[in-house]
Amino acid sequence: MALIVQKYGGSSVGDIERIRKVAQRVIEAKKEGNQVVVIVSAMAGETDRLIGLAHQITEMPSEREFDVLVSTGEQVAIALIAMALESQGYPARSFLGAQIRITTDGVFTKARILGVEAERILEELEKGTIAVIAGFQGIDEEGNITTLGRGGSDTTAVAIAAALKANACEIYTDVEGVYTTDPAICPEARKLSRVSYEEMLEMASLGAKVLQSRSVEFAMKHRVPIHVRSSFSQEEGTWVLKEDEKMEEVLVSGITCDKKEAKVTISKVPDKPGIASKIFGAVSEANVVVDMIIQNVSAEGYTDVTFTIPQTDLKKALEVVRRVSQEIDAGGVESDSNIAKVSVVGVGMRSHSGVAARAFSALGKEGINIMMISTSEIKLSCVIEAKYAELAVRVLHEAFELEKTKR
Ligand code: ADP
Ligand code: ASP
Ligand code: MG
Repeated sequence: MALIVQKYGGSSVGDIERIRKVAQRVIEAKKEGNQVVVIVSAMAGETDRLIGLAHQITEMPSEREFDVLVSTGEQVAIALIAMALESQGYPARSFLGAQIRITTDGVFTKARILGVEAERILEELEKGTIAVIAGFQGIDEEGNITTLGRGGSDTTAVAIAAALKANACEIYTDVEGVYTTDPAICPEARKLSRVSYEEMLEMASLGAKVLQSRSVEFAMKHRVPIHVRSSFSQEEGTWVLKEDEKMEEVLVSGITCDKKEAKVTISKVPDKPGIASKIFGAVSEANVVVDMIIQNVSAEGYTDVTFTIPQTDLKKALEVVRRVSQEIDAGGVESDSNIAKVSVVGVGMRSHSGVAARAFSALGKEGINIMMISTSEIKLSCVIEAKYAELAVRVLHEAFELEKTKR
């Protein structure tokens, strides 16, 4: 008997009709002789609605109360799914993260999972019950409710699959799998039948919303095979797996785009040892994760430092950076949220050259200016003006002939 973890995203449980269909799909898996654990996100649009309510009260809500609020969307969804299963004659029980003890650290709004009490879920499975578990949430050491960051239900699903040593973790969403780029932006995007953990981790952290990056990190560490597929069709989706030689033959496997970052520039920073540590130490203490960092060559003992962070953390980061900037006697602090980061990802980049030249030339031909660049073994990222984001994705997709992808 196989044990399958199925995760249904917001669009898959967007209305009552869809919730009934999800229940049907869970029942099919059960009828095939599998043990099934279901993870559910909030109904489509609900998390955004809750965030909107918080911001009507205050621009910077208490992060603890923010998590109490936004975690409620999932509570509604699990109860409805469990009811739909029971009404079809299949015993089901819904659980909040805290009830099956998904423990996390205490970093509200982006907590990390520390542990899952598998026994609690296994008890239900042994009774033949379908466990329906709220994604996106957990409980910290002090008993506070925490959430795992946007898209966090994916991570709940993989963490539970790892704890239960499930045979597979199926991620049901509104597209047929992982594509060469976001099919909503580029109609030429092709579905990948397989993608390595490393590539998927890059794609997810660089903006491919289809999986939360932490879910891929977790899967890679615990070797959980992920199957991303559509809840609206029976088609095979994309398997996220350990890399094999064939995957390296492909130069570029995907293009991603992230419009959720902001750029902060500190000008006239004294060019002395210890200054970078002062700035970034303070930012990290505020639990803000810095992505790209650029420092100019110094002129007359001063330099400019530019870095990118999540837009959601901009206000918090600016408070800290303005304070430090005064302490170190820097010139001034500016920020810009009108940016997008477009990236080219592929394990084949390790052994092939010329990717950067091809990408820069494609962007240049369209008159798209590059503000920041960063590279790693298997990716190249460029920060550009937000208004060119979709165009840049299509241009890069074409430049690397991804419409011809067969994988
Ligand atoms: P869910 O609500 O099921 O969690 P999400 O909205 O979080 O779904 O993720 C699915 C969306 O991710 C798709 O509708 C698609 O527009 C977007 N997406 C971005 N990049 C990719 C990609 N490379 N492959 C597939 N989907 C992508
Ligand atoms: N409901 C949460 C969100 O919208 C978690 C998730 O969908 O995975 O981000
Ligand atoms: Mg999602």
